[in-house]
Amino acid sequence: MAKKPSEKEEEYFARMEFERRKKTEEEKHKNMATEEKKRLKELHFMKCPKCGMELIEIDYQKIKVDKCSSCQGVWLDAGELEAVSNLESSTLDKFFSIFR
Ligand SMILES: [Zn+2]
Repeated sequence: MAKKPSEKEEEYFARMEFERRKKTEEEKHKNMATEEKKRLKELHFMKCPKCGMELIEIDYQKIKVDKCSSCQGVWLDAGELEAVSNLESSTLDKFFSIFR
């Protein structure tokens, strides 16, 4: 019977998987023309990655959160998930109440 992977192993494999896929994507980016990158940014900037509708940026406690105007999805920029997880629970409650 196979042993259940430990949390550490799972964390390791998840990180490996992320690194592997990131490498593949970076290779693709290198081969992508500058014009194509510009076109994609213009097309997708501040658009919801799930439904494609406009995102609304809300600034709270120095954290900028993008909320979808249609599907209610919430998106964070690099470093913001860490910032949110460092908020005290009372602040976190207020934070979420903004988006209800
Ligand atoms: Zn959406």
